[in-house]
Amino acid sequence: MTQTITVIRGDGIGPEIMDATLHVLDAMNVGLAYEEADAGLVALEKHGELLPQATMDSIRRNRIALKSPLTTPVGEGFSSINVELRKRFDLYANVRPAKSFPNTKSRFASGVDLITVRENTEGAYIGEGQSITEDGETATLMQKITRKGSERIVRYAFDLAVKTGRKKVTVVHKANILKSTSGLFLKVAREIAAQYPQIECNEMIVDNTCMQLVMRPEQFDIIVTTNLFGDIISDLCAGLVGGLGLAPGANIGKDAAIFEAVHGTAPDIAGQGKANPCALLLGAAQMLDHLAKPDDATRLRNAVVATLEARDSLTPDLGGSGNTMSFAKAIATRI
Ligand code: NAD
Repeated sequence: MTQTITVIRGDGIGPEIMDATLHVLDAMNVGLAYEEADAGLVALEKHGELLPQATMDSIRRNRIALKSPLTTPVGEGFSSINVELRKRFDLYANVRPAKSFPNTKSRFASGVDLITVRENTEGAYIGEGQSITEDGETATLMQKITRKGSERIVRYAFDLAVKTGRKKVTVVHKANILKSTSGLFLKVAREIAAQYPQIECNEMIVDNTCMQLVMRPEQFDIIVTTNLFGDIISDLCAGLVGGLGLAPGANIGKDAAIFEAVHGTAPDIAGQGKANPCALLLGAAQMLDHLAKPDDATRLRNAVVATLEARDSLTPDLGGSGNTMSFAKAIATRI
C-alpha cells in the first residue's frame, strides 16, 4: 500500500538535501508518495503567509511530514515556524538519536549510540518570560510541568526502549533545586518506570549528566528529560558524534509526526551543492521506523554507514570532495 507523506522542501540548503533524500528513498522502493507543501520563507513569498492552511491540512491528512530546514523571517508573527508546528500538532516528543559514525570529525569514533527523548511542549518554553520592573532590568520566567505531560513523555521513552530492544532509560532532572517542577517530573517518571521492570532505569541530575556525557557517553542508552534540558543535551550529543551534518530529529505527537534534520538552512553554503544530506536521510530512517518499516530503516542507515566507511563521494564537511547529490547517489547504490 502506498503511504503519502507531506514533503516540505524548505529554503537555503533545504531543497538540495530534500532532492538527495528523495533520490535515496525512491531507490529503496518503500511505497511512498509525496505531497509537497510550503512553509516558512518560501510560503511567505508564494502565498503571503508562513504556514498556509493547505500545509496544515496536508500534514493533518497524511499524519507524516518530512521537512527540510526553514527560515523564519524576523518580524513575521512567529518567533519560530518550527516551534509553531510543534504547538499546532501537539508534537510532544522530540526524539534525537546520536550515534558514532565512521570517518567523521568527532571525539568519539565509536561507542556512542543513544537517543534523547525531550519533552517538547511545556517546561521553560511555555512563554518567553517577562520584565517585572519598569526599567526592564529584572525579568522572570514561568515553567510549567504537568503530570499528564510528564507521563506521556516518560512512557514514550520506555515504550521506545521496549520497541527498539534498548536496555536502559536515564531520567535527567534537577529535582534537588527545582523541587516543584523537576521534582514532579521525577516523581511521575519513577511511577512510570515501575511499570517497565524489564528496562533498567537510573536518575541523573542534569549538570552531572553533561559531564558524564562528555567523559563516558557509552553509559547512556535512552535519556528522557524536560524541554530546556533536552534542548541543551541533544545538541551536546550531536557534538559528541561529529556535529550537525549527521544529526536527525523527530517531533512526534498522537495525530502527526514531523521528521527533520536538526541543522538549519545553512545560508553560507546554500546553492553550492556542498550540503551533507545525511541528517535528513537519517531523519527519513526515523520516519521509516515510525511507519513500522524497521527493516527499511536499517537498510537506509546501513547504506549511510557503508558509504561513510568507503569514503565514497563524501561532502566537504566530512573532508570529501563529493557533492550533495553524488553523496546521495553513492548511498543509493548501497541500499
Ligand atoms: P545552521 O545549522 O544553518 O548552520 C550552522 C553551520 O553548520 C553553518 O556553517 C552551515 O554551513 C553548517 N551546516 C549546517 N547544516 C549542514 C549540512 N547539512 N552540511 C554541511 N554543513 C552544514 O545554523 P544557523 O546558521 O544558525 O541558522 C541558519 C538559519 O536556519 C536561520 O534562519 C535559522 O533560523 C534556521 N534554522 C532552522 C532550523 C529548522 O528549520 N529546523 C533549525 C535551526 C536553524
